[in-house]
Amino acid sequence: MQNNSRQQILAILKKYWGYTSFLPLQEDTISSILAGKDTLTMLATGGGKSLCFQLPALMKEGMAVVISPLISLMKDQVDALKDMGVAAEVLNSSLAPEEQGRVVNLVSTGKMKLLYISPERLQQDRTRQLLQSVPLSFFVIDEAHCISHWGHDFREDYRNLRIIKEWFKPISVHAFTATATEEVQKDILKELRLENPQTHIGPVDRPNLTYRVWLRSQIISQVTDLLKKHAGEAGIIYCLRRDDVDTLSARLNALGFENLPYHAGMDDDTRRLHQDRFAREEVDVMVATIAFGMGIDRSNIRFVIHTAMPKSIEHYHQETGRAGRDGLPAHCYLFYGGSDFLTWKSLLEDSPHKEVLLEKLQSLYHFCSQPHCRHRVLANYFGQKYGKASCDACDYCLNELEMVEDPLIVSQKILSCVYRVHQVSGIGFGAGHIANVLKGKQSDQVETWGHHGISTFGLMAEESVAFIRYMIEQLIGQGFLRREGEFSTLFLTDSARKVLKGEQTPVLVKPLVAAKKEEITQKGRKKKEEEWAEIDQELFQVLRSKRAELARTQGVPAFIIFGDKSLRDMARIKPTTREAFATVYGVGDYKMHAYADAFIKIIQNFLRLGMG
Ligand code: ADP
Repeated sequence: MQNNSRQQILAILKKYWGYTSFLPLQEDTISSILAGKDTLTMLATGGGKSLCFQLPALMKEGMAVVISPLISLMKDQVDALKDMGVAAEVLNSSLAPEEQGRVVNLVSTGKMKLLYISPERLQQDRTRQLLQSVPLSFFVIDEAHCISHWGHDFREDYRNLRIIKEWFKPISVHAFTATATEEVQKDILKELRLENPQTHIGPVDRPNLTYRVWLRSQIISQVTDLLKKHAGEAGIIYCLRRDDVDTLSARLNALGFENLPYHAGMDDDTRRLHQDRFAREEVDVMVATIAFGMGIDRSNIRFVIHTAMPKSIEHYHQETGRAGRDGLPAHCYLFYGGSDFLTWKSLLEDSPHKEVLLEKLQSLYHFCSQPHCRHRVLANYFGQKYGKASCDACDYCLNELEMVEDPLIVSQKILSCVYRVHQVSGIGFGAGHIANVLKGKQSDQVETWGHHGISTFGLMAEESVAFIRYMIEQLIGQGFLRREGEFSTLFLTDSARKVLKGEQTPVLVKPLVAAKKEEITQKGRKKKEEEWAEIDQELFQVLRSKRAELARTQGVPAFIIFGDKSLRDMARIKPTTREAFATVYGVGDYKMHAYADAFIKIIQNFLRLGMG
């Protein structure tokens, strides 16, 4: 980038966004776009993708067209742009006809800088004519992974986006995504017919997220323990089915943990209301299916809890990606159980892409049940190396998992029991029965099949049935056992034979015991204290209420006014003059103009009352 244009770019960055430097790869992407080259940019959630195209859109002649898959996503971005004084609009089917007419007129005047539209809309003839009648700067394809069959969110209407190159040549096209494996990246380039594209692939890793994966047992108390830990913070609790959402949401509300439910089975108005209340910070916790989230830009989500396995690592990465978009520490908890695998398997049964999807599901199951550095596994899955020896931000690297001391012997005992019962009875058995046999527990089934007489009966008598079940679960997830059929019968896989011969050793963890849980809680508390060391927490809460009030009166999501990072900075600096306020993180000309006085007043009052 030329020096003078770099200065110009930095000036725009400060004026509109209030930032003084770029996040990794933003500047590279911006220069490629300004140079008119086609691009593919992959930046993890929170990596600042929107700024990469919004800033050049302000600098270039003409209007940029942004194709986005979700109406709520478009609306949030356009609201945020308008709040910065940028001429941007949305054009999609959610608008009333007269609104659509107004936007079309605005576009025709040639004064718009950014137009957000849906892929369906782009493909209509009248849209084509409209866009061909005005100067365009470039096209952006947001969530570009939706174009690939190999991706996890394939959308038919994204498939046709190749028409952009046919209809609007030579205008450049810029694809953006947060989660794409190498295969998907190649597919995006091919499908969009990008010409000599410049690719900017950032690390998928999100260092500010801490991942923990636990086996599900008493899910209500598991969740309420976490809600107590995260009291006053924003979070999403994901459930697999709509019914689970309704049940869990009602139970938690009854227990005093305020939350709102969200799923695709609810009527549109209620759903929108719940989403808006969350975005405006009137409520902090959502219990939802994955239908909730893609359009959620609330940047201060501090925790995401999965009460069941998601269906792929891509989904997990995307769903947890909603936490900590502001770059501040956030926590991801995943509770899994073998039944989730079976539920997903049956749901995927009719998909035309069943094979691919089942493979993805198996990788996720493996991720859950094979203890390893979670950051590393995620990075490797997306074809990237992970540089650090320890991430210091997952249950494995934080030493929160207690390893089984003799995993080979434990595995061999279990696998031989599965083998033996099958051999003597001619049929396979489920995990419950295998655990009873290993424990040496008499049951009707043990009696009926005479399994108290076999050599593996009571082989793990010193362990609890729950412990044995947990070990079995991990062996299934790691691919040493297969669970099949109506009765979830267990069978050995080819890799099981390697374990039986002692050629391969599974990695097994013990169930979390109360003492370990307490240790984790204490450590978490200490870390949080460090994070808030110089920030006045009381003032932060006061500022947060002001932000919620402004969001309510303006009818916009709270993060559009200020992110938590800005509020924390205010609660640290406590600016009482406009000069001091201008130094707060994220304060540009427009924010200064719109909000400085209101927030300075709040801070002055707070200090006057001797609270500071
Ligand atoms: P993505 O779409 O990649 O998830 P966003 O565009 O929502 O990311 O940006 C994430 C957060 O980072 C937003 O709060 C945004 O304002 C902030 N951000 C973007 N660029 C910068 C920058 N150069 N400096 C500081 N913060 C930034």
